Amino acid sequence: MSLKSRIVGTAKRQVKQTLRPVLQRAMAPARTAVPASHWGLEHRPGQGLCLEGVPLKDLVARHGSPLHVVHLAALRRNAERFLAVPPGRAGGCEVYYSYKTNPVPGVLSYLHGLGVGAEVISAYEMWLALKLGVAPERIVYNGPVKSEASVREAISRGIQLLAANHAEELAVFSRLAAEVGRRPRVAVRVSTNSGWSAQFGTPIAGGAALRAYQQACASKHLDVVGLHAHRGETIRTEGDLTGFVESVLAFTDTLHQELGLDLEVLDLGGSLCTPTVEHIAERDWRLNLTFFRDVPAPDPAASLSIERYVALVVEMVESHYARQGRKRPRIFLEPGRAMTGDTQLLLGRVHALKAAEDRAYAVLDAGINHAECVRNEYHQLFHVDRPDAPAEQVYTVVGPICTPGDTLYHAKRLPELSVGDTLAIMDAGAYFVPFATSFSYPQPAILALDGGKEQLLRRAETFDDQVALDAPAAATATASKPEAA
Ligand SMILES: *Cc1c(COP(=O)(O)O)cnc(C)c1O
Repeated sequence: MSLKSRIVGTAKRQVKQTLRPVLQRAMAPARTAVPASHWGLEHRPGQGLCLEGVPLKDLVARHGSPLHVVHLAALRRNAERFLAVPPGRAGGCEVYYSYKTNPVPGVLSYLHGLGVGAEVISAYEMWLALKLGVAPERIVYNGPVKSEASVREAISRGIQLLAANHAEELAVFSRLAAEVGRRPRVAVRVSTNSGWSAQFGTPIAGGAALRAYQQACASKHLDVVGLHAHRGETIRTEGDLTGFVESVLAFTDTLHQELGLDLEVLDLGGSLCTPTVEHIAERDWRLNLTFFRDVPAPDPAASLSIERYVALVVEMVESHYARQGRKRPRIFLEPGRAMTGDTQLLLGRVHALKAAEDRAYAVLDAGINHAECVRNEYHQLFHVDRPDAPAEQVYTVVGPICTPGDTLYHAKRLPELSVGDTLAIMDAGAYFVPFATSFSYPQPAILALDGGKEQLLRRAETFDDQVALDAPAAATATASKPEAA
């Protein structure tokens, strides 16, 4: 390194260090934490954070760390909110949980027991739904890649809805339906100008979606009953929702006018937010990285609640159809993150502490291998043992994997940590488990709490599990001997 760049580097570091405390104070975000009570956690003196009266630190002592904890009462509450008929309405929505969001059989079965169906996007997920005993009429099959065997099975079982992600799939559905001798209930997945377009769905703009419906209706083997649309981009405000639903409703009018098609099912997909989780804005991320400014916590009260979301959807669809004197279709919802996100937490322990020039590193036994989403989403972090201790020390919280990418929190103010302390990463119920990797470490156990009773949903992976699929070493290589001189 040249002398000049060394001087510049030192000067930059000094500016940052001088500015940090000033900026931390001057630019403090309005909200830096959501209280533990939001999740039903309570602080009991001497026991730390407790859920349903059970100290969280006792759970890791009994079941090992890291550990996923599923709060079944919270799951029930979310499911009941989605299923409830909004006040003053004759009917509500039918709910199909997005399997890929948290494909833990114990969680899925619990939801099915409450009257929630299965939204599957792959042959494996459809197999899983059938294995868990979900009735075919409670299954919606989406996804961009469906094996022919799974489509044949979906048709012969008579599943509720088979959605074509792109027009080419319609020809496959039609051919397989003719072979099986049964007419599947088909939808076309459309993309609106609100939310993702990318590789999913057939765009309404430019007429591709209308042409796909023409093609579907022309097949005598298909029963074209529905429309599928999934926004993709998270729905947090009323505006996010209404813009999306309006464009879907406008397209149902086009189908009515152009093709005389009146749909029985309007499937509006998922995308409703978890109120306490938010994508970290680029600016907030940079301020945190450079000046250790706290990442602002989302305000759960400012985001669309499940009740309000369901009420708005029903109201919009009902009034749209009422204005035209037509019967309103059945409304399907496919929540993922909004159903399970805030019903699970991930416990981990501080394994080591390392002081650095301007901060301390806290090395946890859980990192992005189990909590990938924390890299770019706000997730509340609690000190389980001393939740009320003043958060005065800045830590970079890292995981066990040997890459600098395994950083969960770049600059997080926490109470002074000690080795062995337990931390809780909140809102681990959406996209944590399915995105987990077994990079160097096996997967943690998943435990459910039900009225204070512990129920193991999935045991921790063992080392043997990690190699269970491998063929025993067929040949043993031996190093070749160096030639004798
Ligand atoms: C992923 C997915 C969902 C659930 O999405 P969330 O954002 O978690 O609500 C619903 N429908 C489809 C088609 C999906 O791919």
